[in-house]
Amino acid sequence: MKNIFGYKYEKLENELIKIGEKKFRTRQVYEWIYLHKQYSFDKMTNLSKTSIQKLKNNFTIDFIKINKIEESSDTIKFLFELNDGNLIETVLMKHNYGNSLCVSSQVGCNMGCSFCASGLLKKVRNLDAHEIVQQILLAEDYLNERIDSVVIMGIGEPFDNYDNVLDFIRIINHPYGLAIGARHITISTCGIIPKIKEFIKEDIQVNLAISLHAPNDTLRSSIMKINDVYKINDLVNTLKEYINKTNRRVTIEYVMLRYINDSSKEAAELAKLLKGMNVYINLIPYNEVDSSGYKKSKKEQTLKFYDYLKKAGLNVTIRREFGENIDAACGQLRAKEVEK
Ligand code: SAH
Repeated sequence: MKNIFGYKYEKLENELIKIGEKKFRTRQVYEWIYLHKQYSFDKMTNLSKTSIQKLKNNFTIDFIKINKIEESSDTIKFLFELNDGNLIETVLMKHNYGNSLCVSSQVGCNMGCSFCASGLLKKVRNLDAHEIVQQILLAEDYLNERIDSVVIMGIGEPFDNYDNVLDFIRIINHPYGLAIGARHITISTCGIIPKIKEFIKEDIQVNLAISLHAPNDTLRSSIMKINDVYKINDLVNTLKEYINKTNRRVTIEYVMLRYINDSSKEAAELAKLLKGMNVYINLIPYNEVDSSGYKKSKKEQTLKFYDYLKKAGLNVTIRREFGENIDAACGQLRAKEVEK
């Protein structure tokens, strides 16, 4: 039996029709769970006893559990325990413009970026859509506030779990679901080209972010294994295709690693690579991971890099830092817990 939170609207509609229910039951069920937050089939009072019984026979409605919470003034970090005992993490960031939630899409990650804590633990399995949806529901419940925007930038490579992640997006975006606007949802990938091409065809206004982190193949391959498979030029051409077909701007993520990718030489190469493209570059202060050996770039160096790109006419910002004191960098809390 599959969890009810894992069904996008149209899929649930099909399932309900299959078990002899009317189409409109879908909206009722969606409103119970996503609007009224009623997580027991028995309490869905506008449904007949027979309908309730059918739901119980065909779907589960149980939740992942909170294992641990770390909190600072602007950040709440959740360690969730899945029903099979696996741990994942989710980070809530309180911006002045609203609450943003960073969700995980896999247990562990196989992309093997050398600077990232998530990759310390290899992928165990993909998350089902319901396990991603419930990260939001439990965070909202804990905070007693609405989550305004969602970034799929936690543990895992979302495009390595494409179907479930896309279902997740459709569920939270649906007007009878959590109704989070597509423009408030960002999916971040290390650059799996065939999936970006598939994503172009989805006809959804979700933001796309690309973890580039280096302006040339030699450097990028030395820190990101995925670059051995999908080279920078092919990646950039695919992004041009995305921008052309969707008319949307792409976010380029660039994590600032001291003495690795933060010199003026790289700034110049990056400017040249992205010149004229409808992109927005987000320079990410590196969150130091004990075992990786990488250091965050010095503040002056980051500013210099920023200035260079700005003067070259590119859209660029430096990402605000959240929750440094609570292991908020992707995968650090989980890595520590699993080690224990
Ligand atoms: N796999 C996806 C999404 C998860 S990582 C991707 O690669 O985009 C989300 C972002 O955080 C990526 O840009 C990643 O490179 C970056 N990141 C990973 N570890 C980091 C760290 N310790 N400090 C800062 N950013 C980090």
